[in-house]
Amino acid sequence: MSRYWTNKIASLDPYVPGEQPQDKQYIKLNTNESPYSPSPKAIAAMQAQVSDDLRLYPDPNCQALKNALAQNYDLSANQVFVGNGSDEVLALAFMGYFANGKPLAFADITYSFYKVYAGLYGIEPKLIPLTDSFDIEPSDYENLDVSGVVVTNPNAPTGKALPLSDIERILTANPDVVVLVDEAYVDFGAQSAASLVNTYPNLLVVQTLSKSRALAGIRVGYALGHPDLIEGLERLKNSFNSYPIDRIALAGATAAVEDDVYLKDICAKTINTREKTVLELEKLGFSIIPSATNFVFVTHPEKSAESLYLSLKEQGILVRYFGNKPRIGEYLRITIGTDEEMAALVEVL
Ligand SMILES: *Cc1c(COP(=O)(O)O)cnc(C)c1O
Repeated sequence: MSRYWTNKIASLDPYVPGEQPQDKQYIKLNTNESPYSPSPKAIAAMQAQVSDDLRLYPDPNCQALKNALAQNYDLSANQVFVGNGSDEVLALAFMGYFANGKPLAFADITYSFYKVYAGLYGIEPKLIPLTDSFDIEPSDYENLDVSGVVVTNPNAPTGKALPLSDIERILTANPDVVVLVDEAYVDFGAQSAASLVNTYPNLLVVQTLSKSRALAGIRVGYALGHPDLIEGLERLKNSFNSYPIDRIALAGATAAVEDDVYLKDICAKTINTREKTVLELEKLGFSIIPSATNFVFVTHPEKSAESLYLSLKEQGILVRYFGNKPRIGEYLRITIGTDEEMAALVEVL
C-alpha cells in the first residue's frame, strides 16, 4: 500500500498465475504449458530475427501473422486481431465490448481472469452456475439483460467441451451483444466456432499460441470476428500500445501458425497421453471429468485434494489446487505432460 495509490489501484484484486517456484526442478503439471518444444520452423524463424533488424520497430499491423491465421481459418485478414497473449486480447475485448454498465454473463466455474478484468473495468459479473455435472446449460443463457457473454470452450478448469450447436444457441439468444468464445484449449478435442464467424456478427472467437502451439513464452493470442468487431479492437489497441507483438514473437508465431502438421502431431501425442493417464488414474480410484483439453480435472473419494497436492509437491510434482474456490475445492487440475512425466505422477499417487 502506498499513499500515492489511487482508489482504483487499491480496489484491484489481481490474477494469481500458477506457481513457478524456483527452489528446485519440478515436473510442472500446473499451468497447462506444453511439454513439447515449439515447431522447429518457429524456432528457426525466431533465431533469424535476432539480428540488426531489432533496432527497427515491428510491423504494428502484424500483417504476416494475420494473413497466416486468416488462411488457416478460411477468413480474411480483416477478420483477425492479434495481441500479446490472449490475455491481452481478452482485456481489450472486455474494455471495448462489455464495460457499458450492464453485467457480463459467464460461468461460475471458469477461467478466473474474467473476474479480474471485470473488476478492472467496473463490470459486474453475472455468474451463471454450471450444472451439478459441471456442464454449461445453453438455456441458462437466454433472456439475459447483459453487456455480453463469455463462454470458454472447452471450459477450464473442468475440461468439458460444448458442441457447436450449443454455441449457436447462445449466439442466437444474444444477438444484441458480443458473445466471446475463449478457445484456449480447442485444438485438444473440441469444435472451433471459427467456422461461424461469417454467420454471426456478434461472435468473437479468442485463441492462443500458448497451449497447443507450445509458445507460452512469446505471448501471442488472437481473435477472429466480424471486420467491424476487429476494427473496434484495433482502435483500442492503437490507443494503448502500437507494438504489443515484438519482431521475434511475430516471426515465431507466423511460422508456428503455418506449421499445421507439427500442431496436429503434438496435439495427437497429448491426447494419447491424456487417455492413457485417465485409465491409470481411474485404476487408482479417481473420478475424472471427460476432458477435451491438455489437462484433466480429478477428484478422489477418499483422499483430500489438499493432501494430494501437498504430497505431490513434496515429491517434486506441481499440480493446480483450488482450495479457496467454491464447488471445486476437492478437485485438482493436472496438465498432461509427456508419457514419462505422467508415469512419474501415477507412480507417486
Ligand atoms: C491459458 C488461458 C488463456 C491465456 O492465454 P495466453 O494467450 O497465454 O494469455 C486464456 N484463456 C484461457 C481459458 C486459458 O486457459
